[in-house]
Amino acid sequence: MTAEIIDGKQIALDIRAEVADEAAELVDKGVTPGLATVLVGDDPASAVYVRSKRKACAEAGIKAWDHDLPASTPQQDLLDLLADLNADEAVHGILVQLPLPEHIDEQAVLEAVAPDKDADGFHPMNLGRLLAGQRLVAPATPAGIQELLIRSNVETAGAEVVIVGRSNIVGKPLAALLMQKGPGANATVTVCHTGTRDLAEHTRKADILVAAIGRAHAITGPMIQPGATVIDVGINRTDDGLVGDVDFVAAKEIAARITPVPGGVGPMTIAILLRNTVALARRTLQD
Ligand code: NAP
Repeated sequence: MTAEIIDGKQIALDIRAEVADEAAELVDKGVTPGLATVLVGDDPASAVYVRSKRKACAEAGIKAWDHDLPASTPQQDLLDLLADLNADEAVHGILVQLPLPEHIDEQAVLEAVAPDKDADGFHPMNLGRLLAGQRLVAPATPAGIQELLIRSNVETAGAEVVIVGRSNIVGKPLAALLMQKGPGANATVTVCHTGTRDLAEHTRKADILVAAIGRAHAITGPMIQPGATVIDVGINRTDDGLVGDVDFVAAKEIAARITPVPGGVGPMTIAILLRNTVALARRTLQD
């Protein structure tokens, strides 16, 4: 079997085009969607991510405010900036690029973003709403994975989903999304981590296997059920270039569908961030 490749790049482009149409509709109604991005420090990978988010905003007709702060910025200055952005009616979404420098308490910063401007969906109120099945916005990477599954016609209802990784930004919110009763979800979800006794025993049962580990080739061929859908979230820089958490060469001969790295989950994260921003802007019409 040679797996069908799930083309995250194309699906993300489709979503970005939809978002641009929605943004234009909002402009016609007098609301220009606006996203403020905050980058603290000079981590090169973060700078690349933020640059591409800002460029994507411009292409979708979303106004972007760029706040680049030095690594030495005191936490209080960052909190003051967030308070200003929370109060600014032109700003509908706020994104603070993670990770933050060590002297800044990341949780305090995430909680300082107003929940109704939380473009990343990381505020505890929005994570709670997600868990309760009352989603306002969902974190971009897990919501992007759900969208990949929906648009690739992968049946989630009744499926055994195994997620390897329990981070707050990927594994946990994805589990919350896919276990909900409703379309694009209704799955039986297992979450694995370093405390899991026999990882392969779980992964081999997965109809949909999601690897969000951060270790190159952690998922090998024999760990995959023939005919499974494999979603590789990992981004690992190796001597061979950028690779995922799944041994792609082996997996594509066993799985029915698989996401590549790069070009799978990665592009979806930005597309959903834009979609979240437009959704938050649309809410202001109802206020
Ligand atoms: P993270 O916070 O480091 O979490 C990794 C998770 O994997 C942890 O829950 C850890 O378990 C688990 N794990 C590590 N080694 C394991 C093993 N041998 N067996 C079972 N579980 C294991 O990582 P993250 O932020 O979720 O990111 C995961 C990967 O996705 C990274 O490569 C990251 O770069 C990538 N990523 C990509 C995107 C995108 O847009 N494509 C977005 C976000 C992240 P414990 O909890 O027990 O430590």
